[in-house]
Amino acid sequence: MSQDKLKTLEELQNIDLQIRDLAAAAEKHPQRLKQIENQKNSAKSQLDGLRGKLAENERARRQQTEMHGLEQEKVRKWETRLAELKTPREYAALARELDIAKKTNETASLELKRLLGEYEELKKSAAAAEVTLSEKEAVSAREGQEIGALLTAAQEQIKALEVQRAEAVAKCEHGLVAKYERIRKQRGGVAVAAVVGGTCKGCQMNIPPHMANLLRTGAEIQTCPSCYRFIYAAREQAPVAAEV
Ligand SMILES: [Zn+2]
Repeated sequence: MSQDKLKTLEELQNIDLQIRDLAAAAEKHPQRLKQIENQKNSAKSQLDGLRGKLAENERARRQQTEMHGLEQEKVRKWETRLAELKTPREYAALARELDIAKKTNETASLELKRLLGEYEELKKSAAAAEVTLSEKEAVSAREGQEIGALLTAAQEQIKALEVQRAEAVAKCEHGLVAKYERIRKQRGGVAVAAVVGGTCKGCQMNIPPHMANLLRTGAEIQTCPSCYRFIYAAREQAPVAAEV
């Protein structure tokens, strides 16, 4: 019975299209996950960068504080010694050194102030970056879970469809299934097409009228002369049950 064979092919086609759609939808999930992961990583490296700058700032401030302390110590010592100096030449020489030390001190003090201001700004930025990172982490965890669940569901659906598919294949002649597979590969995943008003819906080409007639009688399985897909006459609307 060619009608039964055709029905099974239609069933097979229907299952294969469902599998194809599920697989295509599932493929988008890893892309989305990767995007979320990238956003999280960039928030993390932003924070790491700021933390690095904070550490650098702390180091620089320690250095400046140390230098400032040493210079102050020097200034104190030299000021004491200055009072004890006898000759104007010695006095002038030390006074000059003292001047330089005081200037160095002043510069260190200004630099320290600048570093402190920078530190406060960095602290604020780092706090904001921490908030951003924890937000991205939350999104990543939540969506990761959602996507994981979606993928599992899709895999289960596909598995169930594979079982149905194996049943449909078992009902079909081997040669017919092989032909079906061949056409499906060559024709973008669609091997069975309806004919509506004399037009093959697979390729939108008209089929010869005698073929359309044969299709209606359903004597044998037909293929479209243009796209070689299996064709079937589109079913009319369900006939109204005859009144008894
Ligand atoms: Zn066609």
